[in-house]
Parts: sequence; C-alpha cells; structure tokens
Amino acid sequence: MKYVDEFRAPRLVGLLAGAIQKECPRQETTFMEVCGTHTQNFRRFGLHKILPPQLKLLAGPGCPVCVSAPDFIDRAILYARLPGTIIATYGDMLRVPGSASTLEKERARGASVHLVYSALEALLLAQKNPRHKVIFLAVGFETTAPTIALTVRAAFRAGVKNLFFFSSLKLIPPAMRHLLTRGMGPKIRGFLCPGHVSSIIGIKPYDFIAKSYTIGCCIAGFEPHDMLQGILSLIRQHKDRTPGVVNQYRRLVKPCGNRRAQRIIADVFEVSRADWRGLGVIEASGLRLRKRLREFDAEHAIPVPAVTPARKGTGDVSCRCQEVLAAQISPVECPLFRKKCSPSRPLGPCMVSSEGVCNAYYRYR
Ligand code: SF4
Repeated sequence: MKYVDEFRAPRLVGLLAGAIQKECPRQETTFMEVCGTHTQNFRRFGLHKILPPQLKLLAGPGCPVCVSAPDFIDRAILYARLPGTIIATYGDMLRVPGSASTLEKERARGASVHLVYSALEALLLAQKNPRHKVIFLAVGFETTAPTIALTVRAAFRAGVKNLFFFSSLKLIPPAMRHLLTRGMGPKIRGFLCPGHVSSIIGIKPYDFIAKSYTIGCCIAGFEPHDMLQGILSLIRQHKDRTPGVVNQYRRLVKPCGNRRAQRIIADVFEVSRADWRGLGVIEASGLRLRKRLREFDAEHAIPVPAVTPARKGTGDVSCRCQEVLAAQISPVECPLFRKKCSPSRPLGPCMVSSEGVCNAYYRYR
C-alpha cells in the first residue's frame, strides 16, 4: 500500500515555520482563522505548537453547526415532534443541545429523524414518503448553499409538494464585519479567510476589511503549508502596513469565485437577517427562500412558534459556547472543558461538530 504523508511538503513547512519565527512582530499579534476546518487542521497538524508564542490565533464563527442559533435547534425539535413529519439532517445536528432536548433524544422517543449526506437525499426521502412532510435542516455557509438551491429547483421541477427547507444558511463576510464593528478591530490584525467559502464568493467580498478597517486578509487552503503561507502573508501585510486580500489558495479560488454557483444561489435565495449563536442577530447575513418558492419554506408552510429560552443558551447553563464563538474566551477557559464536556458527551455545539473549536481543542490537545 502506498504510504501517504499528511505533511505533504515537509521541507516547505519547515521553511515557512522559520520565516514566521523570524518575521513575526515581537509584541502580541492576533489573527483570526475564520473557518472551522482551519481551526481543526491547525491543531490536527500541530501547527499551533510551531508558531511563536506572541502570535495568537482566535477561532472564528466558521462552524455551521456551532453558529446555528439555539432557537433554530428548538424549532427543529418542535418540527420533529409534529405527527407526520420526517426531519432530514446532517449527522452533526443530532446532538446539538436545544434548551431542553436534542434531535437525538427526540429520535429515541420515536420522532422520525433521518441522517442525510446531501440535500438531494432529502428530496429522495420526500419522494419515497409522499404521505409525510419531510423537513430538511438547511445548515451551512456559501459553500453548501448552491447544492441546497439546486435541490429546491429539482423539487420544484418534479412537482414535489412534501419537501420543506428550514434555513439556517449563513454568509461569512457580514459576520466578519460584525466582529469588527463589535470592537474586535483593534485586537484582530489579520483574517485567515475560508478557502471553501471563497471558492464560491471569490475575493471581492473581503475588500471592505482591508479598506475600511486596514486589516489584512489571506484566503488559504487546508494543507499545513497553505495555512503557514497564509499566516506569513498576514504577518507581512501587518508589518508592512499593506493590508489587502491575498489569495494563497489560487489552485481552487478564482478572483471572481464560482459565478455559476453565485447565480444559482441568487435565483433561489434572498439575503435576510440571521441569528448567530454567540454573535446575535446580524443584518443581511443569512439566506432564505425567495417569495416565489415559499411553498418550500418550512417557516412559511409549517409555522411553529419561536422558542425563546430565558437564557437563550444551550442545554447546560454553564456552557460558554456563546463566548467561545464570539472569540471572547478559549475553550480551555470553560470550566466544563474536558471535565463534564467531551466529544462523547458534548454539552454545547462547539464540542459536537468536528469543526467546532472545543472539539478541535479536545481531540488535538
Ligand atoms: S467545552 Fe463544552 S460546555 Fe464548554 S463551551 Fe465548549 S461546548 Fe460548551
């Protein structure tokens, strides 16, 4: 069997690590990696250990499961309890705690909750179960929106009447703006921008960060050398006071993004306000179905009351996911981390998803 080396370019990794050590400013400098896969891979490859101690990396709001608002989970649970409904969802959503339950517990109590790997599977589920209402939990960012949009179109063309989309789709650049306007501007000196999202949206949506906040951005891939190149680019932009949007991931990200995917998203969805766990409601940061497709919109077709728990949190009052997601604390500052909360018994969404920051900190200590 062919040996596959995860460090595919060890010499390059060594050179980049050396350059980062040499060029990093001596004073504390903070960058944010926006994407959950970057958070995971930094720790998985042990890269956080070879960065200079004064270089701080904050995890951003780039895990779609983690940023789904508590109210979204609670309403998904209400949908699961309705007779004659089937919930179709990605696996990570099962164990995300709502105020008082999870979809996993509801399934154990008899609710029909099916795991799917794509929105298209939800369409097939609806076609196989014409007497049931199938509700797909549409969770994700710009990356997953195109395939969900294509499924809405396919359902429309096939005349399917029993498939509904409950949208928690979110847009990354407005969340980055929100973080900066909430006073994190002086703290964050550079953004490592998400490679997958950028493959859809391109470079331009990040321009405002360099222009209005004089903070550098680098779109990076997910190999060790990609992420280190991204960090080195951010250091240089910061030191030389030349903030811009550098595209390190050129093998995948085109400056204009994926125009076809952008057209498909715009055809099916309109931009709306969205509720982010940890960040609150952000204007123009979500996607909902256009009016002409309302028949597929679960919120419109099968309304359930908004559930607003008093503490608007997760199942455990001590869970500090909200602060972790707002980059106010690190997972290790949560008193439950590694004590009561672990991937096998998660108390908050940041520990559930493999892209969650608590999960990454736990697994790659
Ligand atoms: S360690 Fe667990 S309880 Fe603490 S913030 Fe993370 S997910 Fe929540």
